[in-house]
Amino acid sequence: MLGFCEKCHDMVKYYIVEKKMEKNIKGKEIEYIGKVAVCDECKTEIFVADIRDYNLRMLDDAFREKEGLISVSEMELILGKYDIGKRPLSLLLGWGEGTLTRYLDGDIPTKQYSDILKTILNEPKHMKKLLEENKERITGIAYKRCSEALMSIEKESPMTVKSEDKIDHVVKYLLVNCSDITPLALQKLLYYAQGFFKAFTGEYLFHNNCEAWIHGPVYRSVYYKYKNYGYNPIEENEWDYTDIELDKIEKEILDSIIRNFGCYSGKVLEKMTHAEMPWSITRIGLGDDEGSDRIIEKGLIKKYFQDIKLKHNMLNISDISDYSIDLFNKLY
Ligand SMILES: [Zn+2]
Repeated sequence: MLGFCEKCHDMVKYYIVEKKMEKNIKGKEIEYIGKVAVCDECKTEIFVADIRDYNLRMLDDAFREKEGLISVSEMELILGKYDIGKRPLSLLLGWGEGTLTRYLDGDIPTKQYSDILKTILNEPKHMKKLLEENKERITGIAYKRCSEALMSIEKESPMTVKSEDKIDHVVKYLLVNCSDITPLALQKLLYYAQGFFKAFTGEYLFHNNCEAWIHGPVYRSVYYKYKNYGYNPIEENEWDYTDIELDKIEKEILDSIIRNFGCYSGKVLEKMTHAEMPWSITRIGLGDDEGSDRIIEKGLIKKYFQDIKLKHNMLNISDISDYSIDLFNKLY
């Protein structure tokens, strides 16, 4: 790969490294993992348009994730799923006819509009109601197309739209294979899955960052999805669990997490994560009951679980039990 280095005054070879970046949007610090191009000769950062575009996408994703807002690709899914154009859909919703066009071009919707779109994406029934109640606002052709798309969705198995996010597949796998799991426990299992997966494979299981909330590490998008369950176990229809896309090693590590941590209640798991360095370091200076959206650095999680693996001399995934048992005995 070649790019122009201002320092070398020449086209140079460059390599790419990941870098933690921060940007203030609407008064909020958004952290994300971006990329920078580095000159092979002099090792200074150089400008590459593709990388700038990549970073802008990552920033946009991170902002939307933090705010719980719908992404552009999810909005595109809506149009495809219901075979409807952006203009007729805006009209059905009673919005200005150019509203969705602006959102698809990158404008960020308000929370209220975003929630409406998320509901439509996930619930064909809601879309059907919207279509029937407001059909006089759109052309007969647009009505017919959307109506046919809804019929074929009803005919097929009632599956939700496939989510592209790895963490959603991990969540489904945990819910299917672990009984009586509460939102609190689910968050902790995700955290341990991320930590041990990194320690054993060198890779992160999913890209999402967790935040150091009062009750332990929390993955925000998952929190919003299941918060209505409160302290009760999550129960969903069976069809919500289909289409789990995980490979063998991912499943093996999740199985071990379920065996070794899934047996504890959310409260016990909370206490465990409170005893661990990544959460406690991130919350330095905060009171016990003080809310926080500080991100627990992936680097901290990586270091902590790497150290645990070394300290307990873990060779196999099943050795994770050495840690969970040890930690439980220390706390209780
Ligand atoms: Zn250079």
